[in-house]
Amino acid sequence: MPGKADFVHIHTHTEGSFSDGIIKPDPLFKKVSNTGQKAVCLTDHDSLYSIPAAIKAAAVTGVKAIFGSEFYFVEDAAESIARGDNTRYHLIVIAKNSDGLKNLVRMHNDSHEFNYYFSKRANLGRGLLDIKLLDKYKDNIIITSACYYGIIPYMLYIGKDNTAGKYFDIYQQMFGDDFYLEVARHNVPEEDRAFSLLVELGKKYNKKVIAAQDAHYLDKEDALVHELLISTRFGSFSGFRFPNSGFYLKTSEEMFSLGFPDEYYLNTCEISEKVSSYEMPSDRISGKVIQGRAERLSEADVLKRADMFKKMSPHILSRVLHLLKSGLSLDRIRGEDKKIGKYFSEHEYYAEFAEKLKDIPIDMGKASDDSESVSVLEPFSRYGRDLVSQWEKRS
Ligand SMILES: [Zn+2]
Ligand SMILES: [Zn+2]
Repeated sequence: MPGKADFVHIHTHTEGSFSDGIIKPDPLFKKVSNTGQKAVCLTDHDSLYSIPAAIKAAAVTGVKAIFGSEFYFVEDAAESIARGDNTRYHLIVIAKNSDGLKNLVRMHNDSHEFNYYFSKRANLGRGLLDIKLLDKYKDNIIITSACYYGIIPYMLYIGKDNTAGKYFDIYQQMFGDDFYLEVARHNVPEEDRAFSLLVELGKKYNKKVIAAQDAHYLDKEDALVHELLISTRFGSFSGFRFPNSGFYLKTSEEMFSLGFPDEYYLNTCEISEKVSSYEMPSDRISGKVIQGRAERLSEADVLKRADMFKKMSPHILSRVLHLLKSGLSLDRIRGEDKKIGKYFSEHEYYAEFAEKLKDIPIDMGKASDDSESVSVLEPFSRYGRDLVSQWEKRS
């Protein structure tokens, strides 16, 4: 049985994933430290936003900060955008060292500069990564096949084995031993099937596998707050939700209890050991990235969401909660979780949710606290502030 320090979270979404993550770096690093893990890797969707806060939190806790991102990926971005295709896959890209971080920042910038598109479904602007960009900046980079929406597990799941094999070869040629297969267990049958096929494929090539937890919130009881956040991200209530409340940051023991072979856990430490400390690159975050952020992350937007909850009648709210949690009865949630149970038993519980939503970060200026050590992100916060104030004037 592995020990507490024999696992590292390689797939973690912070508040930097904007409307898809609510973990703040400070409590994240504290929890990681308390659980006895030695490092944690940030993999925000299409974002490097939490790096400054993570550097600070890492220094305070002694936990090693690893920087990556979960990109939206297609074969050929220009072609996909021109066609108006909405199909996107996920890919985890991790910086191995200072040069790798430079490449990560450049990948991030170029994906927004050259492959920027407005997703109508998600109501936000995004940058797309494709094979050409990945190849251009592949040096000193580690990748994993990402979640179920990674192109390899997804293609295996839908029976397109040849396409899955094609991408396996492409990644293998570009990254060799720095390409890992990723599996997780979130109690989602589709995912289980995709990952068992992925493991089969990996066995043929002796490919290393890592056990991951696609964490979007810190503790289990934060699941509903996260769901309220994602279900309101289009400005009105949508039925979009996660399949269950298991997408929280697990302790090593909780991860081991998922029952993967020991080596899957130990391989996460191998990735961590491959990563050496970073010096922040002098590259500037591109204007397009900042534009996308401002569209996603304005204070007015978050306050509007909080307001939605305050104004809702309990009748509407219960309907919304029903939508959000159709897989799990409210009684069961109440019974299983005291904190959530309390929300449900009090008439005003939805106001508490609204208050919590307000805590979700919107102050882009806060990143500037760390501007000396992380010049790469300084203009991000400066321009971000300007854009937010323009946005507020407009609305
Ligand atoms: Zn993903
Ligand atoms: Zn993810």
